[in-house]
Amino acid sequence: MVRLDRDKKAALVSIVVTAFLVVIKYTIGLLSGSIALIADAVHSFTDVISSIGVFIGLKISSRKPTETFPYGFYKAENIVSLFLALAIFYAGYEIVLTSVEKFEAGALTNVPAAISVALASLVLTLLLSSYKLKVGREMNSPSLIADGKHTRADVYASAVVLLGIVGNYLGFYALDQMAGILIAVFIFKSGYEILKDSIKVLLDASIDYESLHRIREIASEVHGVRKIDSLKARSSGKFIFVELEIETNLRDLERAHQLSDKIEDQIKSERKDVDKVIIHIEPEEKEFVRYAVPCTENNGMRSKVSMHFGGAEYFCIFDIKTEDRELTDMRFIKNPFIALEKRKGLKAAELLVASNIDKLVTKESIAKKSPFYVLEDAYVESDVTDADTIGEVIDNLSLYK
Ligand SMILES: [Zn+2]
Repeated sequence: MVRLDRDKKAALVSIVVTAFLVVIKYTIGLLSGSIALIADAVHSFTDVISSIGVFIGLKISSRKPTETFPYGFYKAENIVSLFLALAIFYAGYEIVLTSVEKFEAGALTNVPAAISVALASLVLTLLLSSYKLKVGREMNSPSLIADGKHTRADVYASAVVLLGIVGNYLGFYALDQMAGILIAVFIFKSGYEILKDSIKVLLDASIDYESLHRIREIASEVHGVRKIDSLKARSSGKFIFVELEIETNLRDLERAHQLSDKIEDQIKSERKDVDKVIIHIEPEEKEFVRYAVPCTENNGMRSKVSMHFGGAEYFCIFDIKTEDRELTDMRFIKNPFIALEKRKGLKAAELLVASNIDKLVTKESIAKKSPFYVLEDAYVESDVTDADTIGEVIDNLSLYK
């Protein structure tokens, strides 16, 4: 037997229990003549359909990423939903019609059975909603939580049915039909939700603002992304397709490619429902390249280049204009980590990354040491120099026009 995750199991339990309720409510509804019970059976049936949707969604969203589907496939589900929504509206309409026709038709038959079924429906619906909400929250499954909330609202529907039947039994005959009409409202609501969602997907509406915003955040947090020019995302079936336009300071094709893989991985690791991320990369229009050089003093151009990186007293940070290689800005940061016993190189590297440097120039190569990996991760290049002062470093840079 295949082992299911707890959220999938909960979706499956929900389908089985609700389907069972559909059968007994419909059967006893016919036997007793309770239009409220029949209406609630129809309503539960619409819920079975949407629960099946949740279950399939959970199943597909955990499939292996190597499997590929063509674009058009997912939307078949939304087209089916569209027809289902129309069928649901029709069912709601029929129930209202029947309720009105049979208004004050008289006493129901098989009342004890009808009351038992309505009561069972009330209790089971309540238990089911608590169960789905609990598992949904523990497993962090938005679709299961939404389904659980819907089921919680359905507890009221079951209560209305119970009231209708008991009322009828007590001689208020019309209460059963009135309950039927009220349940029809729930049916129309289900139909409307399904219709709205499927039309939105079919028309390539954007995904919700919150998700879109989060995807933008994830992408902009990836080192190497300098700017996000545009972000679009649409749903297709249970999946999300993302289109991103970014600007990067990377000039190397391989690194740019790694960058786009990284963005895609980051987005997909948080949003399992994202199927594809299409990334358009543009080179950042850079006016300058920002350099950092460790040095022993804060003495302008005459500052000595330090023999150390993490142990340097200062970091000189300056910008060289891309166009004419001219120095545009220079400042010194005192190294706050110099007294640390361990990891001062690492801390210093993080500080420089935060200062948005593009290149680090050192006396001693830092290759394959821990600061190197921090810088590499942020796509900062590192160079070795034999210059003794900041002035010489800058002169050398200007030579390589
Ligand atoms: Zn419902």
